[in-house]
Amino acid sequence: MIKRNVKEIGLGSGIAILGFLLWKGYDVLPFVFILGFFGAVYFLAQSKGLVKSGGFQEVTVNNCSEVAFSDIGGQESAIKELKEALDFIKDFENIKKLGIRPLKGILLTGPPGTGKTLMAKAAAAYTDAVFMSSNGSEFIELYAGVGAQRVRKLFKSARENAVKQNKDNAIVFIDEIDVLGGTRGRHSGHMEYDQTLNQLLVEMDGLKTDESTKILLVAATNRADMLDPALMRPGRFDRHVKVDLPCKDGREQILRIHTRNKPLAGDVNLQDIAKETFGFSGAHLESLTNEAAIYAFREGQKEVGGCHFKEAVDKVMMGEKLDKRPNPDELKRVSVHETGHALVSELLKPGSVSTLTISPRGNALGYMRQTPEDDIYLYTLEYLENEICVMLAGALAEELIFNSRSTGAANDFDGAVHLSKKIITAGMSPLGIISTESLPQEKMHNVITDILQKQEIRVREILAPYSERVIEVTDILLEQERLSGVDFRKYIFAGEKIPHPGDTQSDDVIEAEAEAV
Ligand code: ATP
Repeated sequence: MIKRNVKEIGLGSGIAILGFLLWKGYDVLPFVFILGFFGAVYFLAQSKGLVKSGGFQEVTVNNCSEVAFSDIGGQESAIKELKEALDFIKDFENIKKLGIRPLKGILLTGPPGTGKTLMAKAAAAYTDAVFMSSNGSEFIELYAGVGAQRVRKLFKSARENAVKQNKDNAIVFIDEIDVLGGTRGRHSGHMEYDQTLNQLLVEMDGLKTDESTKILLVAATNRADMLDPALMRPGRFDRHVKVDLPCKDGREQILRIHTRNKPLAGDVNLQDIAKETFGFSGAHLESLTNEAAIYAFREGQKEVGGCHFKEAVDKVMMGEKLDKRPNPDELKRVSVHETGHALVSELLKPGSVSTLTISPRGNALGYMRQTPEDDIYLYTLEYLENEICVMLAGALAEELIFNSRSTGAANDFDGAVHLSKKIITAGMSPLGIISTESLPQEKMHNVITDILQKQEIRVREILAPYSERVIEVTDILLEQERLSGVDFRKYIFAGEKIPHPGDTQSDDVIEAEAEAV
């Protein structure tokens, strides 16, 4: 944009200088000829693609043949739906016989990093199409008309590039289409947004099936709800493909894809890592595998091991390790706090603790990570109350051992309040089914307090018999800085029957059996 402004200012200044010289009586004709000559050379170079086109340099032609649908994991149904739409383009002659018109647009919607751009690239490779990619924000300028002009140029370039490369199809990909395709009339002040969207609608309407180059518009957004109804109507984006966060099997597939080029040690179990990473997108998982390899590299290892993946999960979830060292008293408090979380988690959901550590990371001085039993999409009252207990357990363990609490529990309390609100809005509180909008703030506050107090009492009762064990495990954690769930269960339930699901054996036996499988 700066480049473009410089060009405009330069052009304007040149004309002003020429005008001034003419007014002063100088012969400006030689200057005009020289400028005209250079202008013509520049224009020719631009049309041959030797110089990047001014308002259009951001739109790139990518060679995307290296991305195939097999490089995208965990999106079977989205890929199936997309492929079906693309088959209309591939099998154009046959579908024409039935009077079916090929699709004009496909809208990919879903959270960030789930593979929408990858899908668009793979679609281009699948249909042997030219791929033109751009971003919604590249069309929005201060000057009215510039965005509309860029939309025109994008489609024109797609046609030209397809002809140049001898291809029948072109895919125009617009990422973050909500920036230019948001509901019209939303942007007060200038009409640039509306003009740009109008031009996009015009271009889409102009896509003809009998053209020598068939163009398909693929757009992606995280905010489909923001799009103008005109874009969403049938005949524009004919297919809406949802690209969601991957499920457990999907995560495993994505991990496999991104570890194809990495030497893995024998102790790496991608299935377990997939289980621990509920809520991760493809981009998170790619970053996770990369971070694990970086940890292995830092240690001078030739293979990426299970411990590197564990560290990498923590890094992606919590952020980079921090150098700050709390003082010994603070460390002890953090250790008790995390042990409290882990103990209640283990007692309410046996086998649920994955790791607890007291090394500072991101915003936390320590943390306890749980292994989700399975991907969960629906929560019962019992589940939510148990989660609240786990959140409150850190502060209540501090209270049990030190007779005081600290500010370290502030985030836990925010989480507990959030879950309490969820109980209320889902109609699972004593208020029954309610409209939250008409519920007075004070009433809401009172019910949240009731829920939290009830769970506080429960947690105190759970923790009370374990005060000595908490101190013992705290000391071990202080010494080792980090405990796996297996070790934690071993220490906290030392000599007792370990409350592991269906467990009558020790954790070691379970581990050994799991490894054998
Ligand atoms: P955004 O909405 O932020 O634009 P996106 O949905 O377009 O994100 P991509 O740009 O396609 O996401 O993905 C980013 C990176 O994450 C990819 O380059 C790839 O490494 C990885 N990735 C994301 N999803 C997947 C997936 N389903 N399979 C394999 N890798 C994936």
